[in-house]
Amino acid sequence: MHKPVYLDYAATTPVDERVAEAMCSCLSREGVFGNPASRSHIYGWKAEEAVENARGQTADLLNADPREIVWTSGATEANNLAIKGAALANRAKGSHLITSPIEHKAVLDTFRFLEAQGFKISYLQPASDGTISPEDLKAALREDTVLVSLMHVNNEIGVINDIEALGDICKEAGVLFHTDAAQSVGKLKIDTQQLNVDLLSLSAHKFYGPKGIGALYVKRKSQVALEPQIHGGGHERGLRSGTLPTHQIVGLGKAAEIAAQQLGTDNAKILSLRNRFLSGFCGLDDWALNGSLQQRVAGNANVSFAGVDGEALLLALRDLAVSTGSACTSLSIEPSYVLKAIGLDDQRAHSSIRFSFGRYTTEDEVDFAAQAVVETVKQLRKQPSNGRAESSASTSTLSS
Ligand SMILES: *Cc1c(COP(=O)(O)O)cnc(C)c1O
Repeated sequence: MHKPVYLDYAATTPVDERVAEAMCSCLSREGVFGNPASRSHIYGWKAEEAVENARGQTADLLNADPREIVWTSGATEANNLAIKGAALANRAKGSHLITSPIEHKAVLDTFRFLEAQGFKISYLQPASDGTISPEDLKAALREDTVLVSLMHVNNEIGVINDIEALGDICKEAGVLFHTDAAQSVGKLKIDTQQLNVDLLSLSAHKFYGPKGIGALYVKRKSQVALEPQIHGGGHERGLRSGTLPTHQIVGLGKAAEIAAQQLGTDNAKILSLRNRFLSGFCGLDDWALNGSLQQRVAGNANVSFAGVDGEALLLALRDLAVSTGSACTSLSIEPSYVLKAIGLDDQRAHSSIRFSFGRYTTEDEVDFAAQAVVETVKQLRKQPSNGRAESSASTSTLSS
């Protein structure tokens, strides 16, 4: 049995071989296995050197100072530290926070937690192309606003927010600005010295590094007060305790170094693959790209197919590893909250699939995928149970 073609790079990426090699050198007896916090012997010193080298590589990718990088277990934890950390430390200044309804769950659920603690949250509605308007942000700011959190690139539709404009507005108002950049780091050029971004979350496994490691960038100039969320030995200047996972950190650093070198060539290749993939749909009607085409990362194509249920399509597309715009909960299939927030009705949201491309995607793979999609959609549309007229009926059967 051959494996399905992997077109789910937005969910996670394979570890680059060069990254895996660097990580392996930190694991076994012959490698850099020491505790980076051990100050009394060479095993510790070597590990600390490896960690600080990776901190430099990660900072370089963001044009940041190494002292601005705090290691975390991933973007989920970085988001928690940024949002809860800043909100709780600045509570005396105000309790109003601003975000959007199309953030990742790691942001939304953190805000929900803070809401239960008495914070007031405003949600900026995205435009139908998926972008957040800087004017709307300006209008939502209040005297007691202390933090704004808006993602750089959306994980479902790949749409890019203008974090430069959003950050400038926050800066002018004296409000902290956090961005979840898990989907943009390693894919878009990010210059933290040019941007008014105080806090930025990233995750290694979204750009060919390992899972379980990420970082929070904290702008030194802004002197951001943060309440630590994990207490212990005082690692990471007290912001995040816990023995540093040398191999994971070295993996993140190597992935960052490679991304800095290849970002331009990777992007050009991936963009041409996406164009090739979408041009494969020319013989198909009634499909649409969800979210802005212009303001979008190269590796994302979120497409809806009228009159076809996404779950049925996914089942039929066994040769492709992709994601639907729906999330299965134990009892029902809920259409994506992101697609609904940008104005798609339930039927269209249900009929959406996210194809995401990456460093190892080939022309043969996208040709195969486009052909499989076109054939399957045509076939499903011929079947009465998935026909246009009955599509809502088949959707409700699935959800019940
Ligand atoms: C993947 C992702 C996360 C979560 O990152 P982890 O490192 O897996 O915790 C958060 N936000 C966005 C936008 C993501 O794509």
